[in-house]
Amino acid sequence: MITSIACPACQVGTIPIDARLLAAGQSFSCGTCFAVIGVAEKSKDVLANGVNEFSNLKNKLDGMKTKELSVSGA
Ligand SMILES: [Zn+2]
Repeated sequence: MITSIACPACQVGTIPIDARLLAAGQSFSCGTCFAVIGVAEKSKDVLANGVNEFSNLKNKLDGMKTKELSVSGA
């Protein structure tokens, strides 16, 4: 789950972020200005929950899709 965000420091570069690694405390740096962004210690739990919920939701949607396909294919 890698996403790119605009660099908040230079607003020119983009920073590729893996939300799971970010939630695990990993920092990511801008390729243009080398600013490093990470998650504040107190925000880690919130972000981790968000990532987990996103994964759960995605799994549910994938399950629904599979179901629909098997129904329409029958
Ligand atoms: Zn930058």
